[in-house]
Amino acid sequence: MTDRSPVWHPFTQHYSAPDEINVVAASGALLKRADGSTLIDAISSWWVVTHGHCHPRIVEAVQRQAENLDQVIFAGFTHPSAETLAQELVALAPAGLSKVFYSDSGSTAVEVALKMALGFWHNQGIKRTRVVALEHAYHGDTIGTMSAGERGVFNAAYAPLLFDVERLPFPAPGRTGEVLDRLDKMCRSGDVAALIVEPLVLGAGGMLMWDPLTLHEMRRITEQHDVLLIADEVMTGWGRTGTLFASEQAEITPDILCLAKGLTGGHLPLAATLCSQAIFDAHYSPDRAKTFFHSSSYTANPICCAAAVENINIWKDEPVRERIAKLCEMQELAVGRLSATGLFRNVRRCGTIAAVDIDVADAGYLAGIGPLLQRSFLEHGVLLRPLGNTVYVMPPYCITREELDVVYDVLEDSVAQVLQEAGL
Ligand SMILES: *Cc1c(COP(=O)(O)O)cnc(C)c1O
Repeated sequence: MTDRSPVWHPFTQHYSAPDEINVVAASGALLKRADGSTLIDAISSWWVVTHGHCHPRIVEAVQRQAENLDQVIFAGFTHPSAETLAQELVALAPAGLSKVFYSDSGSTAVEVALKMALGFWHNQGIKRTRVVALEHAYHGDTIGTMSAGERGVFNAAYAPLLFDVERLPFPAPGRTGEVLDRLDKMCRSGDVAALIVEPLVLGAGGMLMWDPLTLHEMRRITEQHDVLLIADEVMTGWGRTGTLFASEQAEITPDILCLAKGLTGGHLPLAATLCSQAIFDAHYSPDRAKTFFHSSSYTANPICCAAAVENINIWKDEPVRERIAKLCEMQELAVGRLSATGLFRNVRRCGTIAAVDIDVADAGYLAGIGPLLQRSFLEHGVLLRPLGNTVYVMPPYCITREELDVVYDVLEDSVAQVLQEAGL
């Protein structure tokens, strides 16, 4: 990459990365480059765009809000978009979540969740401070969320700052009984404040899929031992797994639910952490020391909230569920097609998300094949961003059959070509 810009990009090794692609416009599932060519956005611009880029209704809602109220302090103040959005979220979320705390990103939604869980116990004078998290988990890139996430090359430098969590093995098929037993034992220790999970799909950990029944059992065990359950649905929320929230498939209500990414349809940064009345009540007191001490400057920014309200209106008025069902069907066909090639391992799907692994000697996030594949995909007009030797397709719900066919043609051809050139 040439060093001609002052911009330092995220998760980018500037030494070896190719020049950045300059995107000047987008609509539906397409990104338009400065040179006029287009790319199919097969990863929803890092998992955020749900209905498609520049959905006219969200664009209009943002314009309307921007003209009326841009920003207002949220401590001691409120505004109609935040109130409407909170009511809608409580109505849509699994029953029993009655309070909504706003922040700005998935990471902050999870930070808020962890602080709520610790505050819940602290304010009652009960010593429960340990957090249980899954192996291969990803919950964000702040110090707290990295602590809950898998340890590895991405956070080795910061390890001295990270707090310890109890690590529960990933509940892969065939070992779920053992994992649930481990959880039961951890919970019996009496000092566990909360279990945090990404329901049904561990995203950045490699699109690892697990079953609703195990999640259901985790809820039963945590409930039995008074351990709080935090569902990080930052990625899985807003239809990705086939239902509005992945928790629905396990028929559970977590104590805390984290939402971000698709909350605004992927148009603007906004996050919400929903919690049970009991968690709010543990902070509700004449004692000001029991206040929930968290804020960010832009908490509940009106323009972001207006985008989120319109996202929910789109869910109500447009056939979003039908679009998702159709995409699930197309993804199922694609998964069958990829299985038949014999090029891939662990060909899998959960709702609208499809993923495959490629057999390489250096499997993992730094697998050498990742950047080679990404380059080839982009050269052929498709935005796919492998997680090491895992390639996944997570398109916006508006993607057409023709566009998705191109994505899979390019995926298959690029993998075959790169494997051949690398002599693998
Ligand atoms: C992306 C993601 C986050 C972090 O969200 P940001 O908005 O990038 O901070 C947290 N949890 C999960 C499961 C995610 O996929």
